Amino acid sequence: MTHSCGLMGDGEKPVKIHHLIKAPENTPESVASRESWDASKPVTVYKTPENLPDGTACTAATVILRTKGCVWWWKSGCTFCGYFNDVRDDVTAEDMFSQWDEAKRLTDNFEGCKMVKVYTSGTFFEDRENPPEWQEHVLRETFEMGLHLVVEAQAQMCTPEKLEWVAERHPGCTVAIGLEAYDNTVLRFHANKGFSIKQWHKAVEMLRKNSLRVKTYLLFKPPFMSEGDALNHTSSWVTEVSKFSDEVSINPMNIQRGTVVDRLFRNREYRPPWLWSLVEMITRTHEEISTTNCRVIVHPTAGGKARGSHNCGSCDSEVVAAIERYSVSGNLGEFSGLDCVCRGGWLSETQSDYSLPTPMGSGVHRRGNTLDRLRAP
Ligand code: SF4
Ligand SMILES: [Zn+2]
Repeated sequence: MTHSCGLMGDGEKPVKIHHLIKAPENTPESVASRESWDASKPVTVYKTPENLPDGTACTAATVILRTKGCVWWWKSGCTFCGYFNDVRDDVTAEDMFSQWDEAKRLTDNFEGCKMVKVYTSGTFFEDRENPPEWQEHVLRETFEMGLHLVVEAQAQMCTPEKLEWVAERHPGCTVAIGLEAYDNTVLRFHANKGFSIKQWHKAVEMLRKNSLRVKTYLLFKPPFMSEGDALNHTSSWVTEVSKFSDEVSINPMNIQRGTVVDRLFRNREYRPPWLWSLVEMITRTHEEISTTNCRVIVHPTAGGKARGSHNCGSCDSEVVAAIERYSVSGNLGEFSGLDCVCRGGWLSETQSDYSLPTPMGSGVHRRGNTLDRLRAP
């Protein structure tokens, strides 16, 4: 039967929404920016203090590479992910080898490091994204150098054959999976993650079977969610996933260029989380998590900036520093004495979220004078 009514469609194959509203990789600016970079050099390489799996402090090198990018992104993509800004589909195996050599050159062969995080804007061991001979080279070389390796993957890419292959080449390495939310509805409608909780559990089971370490990323405040809901949901997700993970890293939303969340933000329909919400989530969950062997870290990328998790502007650096300190010490004392007048605003916003039909995720402005803002055209 053919429908002539617009609402019902005209019998044609339906068009997916992302074909209509999202193709930032094809805008002239995006193409120009991608073609401006040198595919033989990594995006960035830096060193940070870290903890080894046994808890000892060490220095870790992070290597972010320019790759063909995540298969899921080219097909559909997560609503918050701006990794496509660093990918191009013409990156060759030769480019990948020279990026890796350049990373070693920049760090003097990872001098002073005990850990290396190799981030490929997708799944490290996905053959359509990264050449298998390059994967093998990185796995073997980092193992021979005695470095603990951390790579990232999507849950559905964790197949028994591939994980076995990885474990043979770099036994005991860490595989970090961006689960984002322990809730199928949020995974599907807020994050557009491309896999379900069931698939994540299956991946975790396979990682354990191959004696690989499990790191889980959670996203604080996905789009279309109020501040209050984000606080309640993430607090319960972290206690759940910490039972199955060696490490949980909670990433408060930071708005990346060209993403669906960026559109909402520029339209004033999304506001990044308050730093106070992160402090509250840590305080609520601390006791239960300390009974597990799981390490929980919260890293507010762009913390204190308008596009990252932020407060009023005057207390931000102090609160970000306390959160960062907590990720290392695991001590709630880091937050004692921390206060600011804006805390009252945060409290009433979250309380309103539970009782009023507030627009999802929009929240209130936290910066500048309210009267000036209202007078602005
Ligand atoms: S799976 Fe990861 S890399 Fe791929 S679109 Fe989602 S967040 Fe980005
Ligand atoms: Zn403040």
